[in-house]
Amino acid sequence: MKVGLLKEGKLVMAEAPEPQLSGGDMVVSMRACGLCGSDIEKIRGHYGATGRIGHEPAGIVRSVAPGVSGFSPGDRVFVHHHVPCYTCEVCRAGSYTFCPSYQKTNIEPGGFAEAFRVPPENVGRGAVLPLPPSMSFEEATLIEPLGCCLTALWSTRFRPGDSALILGLGPIGLLYLRLLRTAGAGRLVGGDVSAFRRKMGEASGADRTFDPTREPVDASGGFDLVVVATSATAAVARGFTDVRPGGTLNLFGLPPEGSQLPVDLQRLYLKGVRLIPSYATTEHGTNRALELISSGRVPVRDLITHRVPLSDLPRAVELAAQVESTIKIVVTA
Ligand SMILES: [Zn+2]
Ligand SMILES: [Zn+2]
Repeated sequence: MKVGLLKEGKLVMAEAPEPQLSGGDMVVSMRACGLCGSDIEKIRGHYGATGRIGHEPAGIVRSVAPGVSGFSPGDRVFVHHHVPCYTCEVCRAGSYTFCPSYQKTNIEPGGFAEAFRVPPENVGRGAVLPLPPSMSFEEATLIEPLGCCLTALWSTRFRPGDSALILGLGPIGLLYLRLLRTAGAGRLVGGDVSAFRRKMGEASGADRTFDPTREPVDASGGFDLVVVATSATAAVARGFTDVRPGGTLNLFGLPPEGSQLPVDLQRLYLKGVRLIPSYATTEHGTNRALELISSGRVPVRDLITHRVPLSDLPRAVELAAQVESTIKIVVTA
């Protein structure tokens, strides 16, 4: 079967053996898998030496190991690639995405493959979500990204009426913006260098959008919440300036490995900025995201601007750099 892999830090299209069952697991035929900003960071070598790509997959259950109940071949599903152990101290404290087991679990060989194996841990710990008939595979690829936005928002102490600034109006920034609008945000502003994405931001509920490389700091006295939804480190420094005293700066975009924070720590301290990084999502997050998408409360279909067949994965990666015409790219099989 065809598969897109990272080999020695480079994206390669390869032939791989069909995944086989080995007990407690299942094999899923991929139908659609979103291309995430973090996949692109990995392909560009900004994420360290290792990494598996493709973690927003949806498809059809092909085979199920004996003894696995609740799933049958033919089921339409979304699969979350990471699961926590639910038993360690970190999990018991509720910090599931930071469980030492979390990043060790994954689908094999990844989501950019004609089929992938879902290990027993993922099958047994709520990572496989049946899709309602009304939800397309393409829409289901946004369950994980929206789950990440939800998990982030839950960690920010956001309250209805709060003002928010989102720096970066890519797929995540736009999903987060729609979520904030639905959650009762007050003044909602988005920043992006791309005019196309700013327009999408306005269509997604922003009161105003701007180009952060052209417009100086917001003059309003600061936002209750600033979300950095880009890997551009300059946005983090800008966020520190644009957040109100005592406000929250949510570090969402994955910064390149080794990047430093150019911030005066005394100013950070005296301004009382709450710096909240948010990484990944949980079983609860993916289930809530599925509900928000399938009910239409957070529409996602119009964010998918491009569909690219698996064999053209390298072209999908090139397309992702064209921020004046793309939002979400979904790889299809
Ligand atoms: Zn992602
Ligand atoms: Zn754990």
